[in-house]
Amino acid sequence: MTPNHTKQLDQNYIMHTYGRYDVALARGKGVVAYDEEGKKYIDVSSGIGVNCLGYCDEGWVAAVTKQAQTIQHMSNYFYSEQAGTLAEKLCTLTGMSKICFGNSGAEANECAIKIARKYSFDKYGAERNEIITLCNSFHGRTVTTLSATGQDVFHNYFFPFTEGFSYVEAGDIDVLKNAVSGKTCAVMLELIQGEGGVNILDKDYVAVLFDFCQSQDILVIVDEVQTGVGRTGKLFACENYGVKPDLMTVAKGIGGGLPMGICLCGEKLSGVMTPSTHGSTFGANPVVCAGANYVLDTVANEEFLARVREKGDYLERKLRELPQVKGVRRMGLMVGIEIDGDAHEIAVKCVENGLLIITAKDVLRMLPPLIITKEEIDEAITILKTTLEECTTHETSFEA
Ligand SMILES: *Cc1c(COP(=O)(O)O)cnc(C)c1O
Repeated sequence: MTPNHTKQLDQNYIMHTYGRYDVALARGKGVVAYDEEGKKYIDVSSGIGVNCLGYCDEGWVAAVTKQAQTIQHMSNYFYSEQAGTLAEKLCTLTGMSKICFGNSGAEANECAIKIARKYSFDKYGAERNEIITLCNSFHGRTVTTLSATGQDVFHNYFFPFTEGFSYVEAGDIDVLKNAVSGKTCAVMLELIQGEGGVNILDKDYVAVLFDFCQSQDILVIVDEVQTGVGRTGKLFACENYGVKPDLMTVAKGIGGGLPMGICLCGEKLSGVMTPSTHGSTFGANPVVCAGANYVLDTVANEEFLARVREKGDYLERKLRELPQVKGVRRMGLMVGIEIDGDAHEIAVKCVENGLLIITAKDVLRMLPPLIITKEEIDEAITILKTTLEECTTHETSFEA
């Protein structure tokens, strides 16, 4: 396959819901990817935080391969050791009580929304069903999770959207309190808004929000789809904030590159869902669970997580040495880089120069594999430095 042929197939047969970089990736190992012509790239995007152990980690490949050769699927009408093992691990590590399996972040959030509403329905009746989310949030692309997403640009074309969502600016607890009514059943938030621009919520705000919601029996749903699985230097970002939500959703990194979305709930909600209130044909697929078990065994390790924090500090220090970098918004290896210039334009140039990097709103965004080394960080910084110099010394043009 040549890159032009691959591009042609994409343009002819795949709906254009994504603006792609002009690269066809063919293979990868660790932090390095290669395109169809063999050109090498340092990847600090890890497929939007999915490949948390990098490309084709040996242990992960072995776990997934072994499971595919043993039993690849059995439907949720049968018990699965891989699913049970993973569920126990997650509950033990988080202190949550029960989990529900799906295949994506959006699905995990749909599940959390359903559980929150059913809890409130069972206890208070049908009227108490509203969920407050934050402006600039991102919770997924289904009709309901688009509703949950607090950005007007996502509320187009697909009417009617799911009712019962309202939005408040993050950071001001009085604004939240004023938005709450007798109909409010939950507040849903990302502790660090990823797609919204790597916006890190204030710790005190989060603490007060949790206390307030608890006092009103309003459930708190924390969307850890992007922040979870070691990304912020703790297994989950909740630990950095010292909070325990009623519902937590996890996806992206958990499968190490295979699709999985999980909704976890605490003790209070563990009996809410009953047979046939929710389900997913592919949910808890044993091959995916085998990969996820391997990911958790690797990442849920204090030394591993300490290295993530240390490498995050190192990366930030290096970034701040670049004159074009105006600021760094970061926790662990979740990084937003404020720069002089157009982030998208710079990202396109970085990719041309061999650095796979993404953007979020007006910041450059790095979500490197958690296994990245300091040497690889240096390589990434070198390419970024060259690119920023190119972009600022002469006007560049690019095709979107
Ligand atoms: C990516 C993301 C989602 C959506 O996940 P999908 O797997 O694309 O459905 C939801 N919430 C957050 C915070 C995300 O970053």
